[in-house]
Amino acid sequence: MSSSDQTLRFLFDQTPIRGELTQLDRAYQDVLSKHPYPTAVKQLLGEFMAATAMLSDTIKFDGTLSLQVRGAGQVRTLMAECRHNRALRAIAQYNDDYDDAGPVLGEGQMAITIEPDKGKRYQGIVSINDGELTLNRVLEDYFQQSEQIRTRIWLYADGQKSAGLLLQAMPESASASSLSADLSEDWERLVHLAQTLTTEEALSLPGTEVLHRLFHEETVRVYEPNQLEFECTCSRQRSEDAIRTMGVDEAVSLAAENGHIEIDCQFCHERYAFTPEDVRALFSASDDSTLN
Ligand SMILES: [Zn+2]
Repeated sequence: MSSSDQTLRFLFDQTPIRGELTQLDRAYQDVLSKHPYPTAVKQLLGEFMAATAMLSDTIKFDGTLSLQVRGAGQVRTLMAECRHNRALRAIAQYNDDYDDAGPVLGEGQMAITIEPDKGKRYQGIVSINDGELTLNRVLEDYFQQSEQIRTRIWLYADGQKSAGLLLQAMPESASASSLSADLSEDWERLVHLAQTLTTEEALSLPGTEVLHRLFHEETVRVYEPNQLEFECTCSRQRSEDAIRTMGVDEAVSLAAENGHIEIDCQFCHERYAFTPEDVRALFSASDDSTLN
C-alpha cells in the first residue's frame, strides 16, 4: 500500500542527528514511461530521483535542486531535478549502440546545482572516476569535503520503485572536524541500524514502518510527509520566451521555412507548435508591452 511518493523527515531526540527517507513510485514510473530505457539506466534514474528529492528536503528552500552527470560511458548525460520540494523530473541520454556489458557512466563529472527562485545560484562539481558510479558515495564525499557535514546515504531502485535513506549529523554539531565521543557513538549505532535495511524493505514497506523497523529502540520524531510528484516545468509560455530570444528575423524566417516552429520537451514529450502567424504575433505582442 505504499503507492504514495513522499519524503519523511525525521529527527533523533537524544542526539543531533537527522534523517530523510524518500520513497518513489508513481513519479518514478511516470519518468520511465517517457522512454524505453535500458535496465541499468532505469536503475540510475531511480537512484538520482530519490537522491534529488532527499537533498532538496534537507536544504528546504524555494527553488530547484538538480543532479546532473556527464559521463564518457554509455550514458552521456543523466539529470534529475526537484522543484519546490515537490515536482520531480528526470531524463537520461545514452548511446544508440547501448550495450549492457560496457560501463554505464564511465569517467565524468557530476554537478549539484541549487537555484533559489530569489538569490544566487550555487553549483558544486564532483569528479566521478570509476567504471560504475555509486551515487551515494559521491554525495557523501561531497558533503564531507564541501560542507564538512557527516552524511550517509543509501539508495535503492528496481525499475518500478525507488527509495533513499539519509542520515546527517546536524551542521552545528559537525563544525569541528571530529565529532564528540558521545555523538560519534550515536552516529555509529544509527548508521549500523540503517545499514540493515534491505532493498525489498526500502521499496515495499510504508515509510513509517521502515523507520520503525530500523529505529524502534530510538526516540524518533517523524515530521509530516512531504508529497512528491512528476511534473514538468515546460510550458507554452516558456517556449514563447525561447522563440523571443531567437530574435524576430531568425524566428520569422525559420517559421516560414518549415511552415511552423515546433519545440519538443525532452522530459515529457510535450510539443509546442507555433505557426508563422503565432510567431509574428509573439513579437508584436512584446513590442506593445515595451510601449507601456
Ligand atoms: Zn515538459
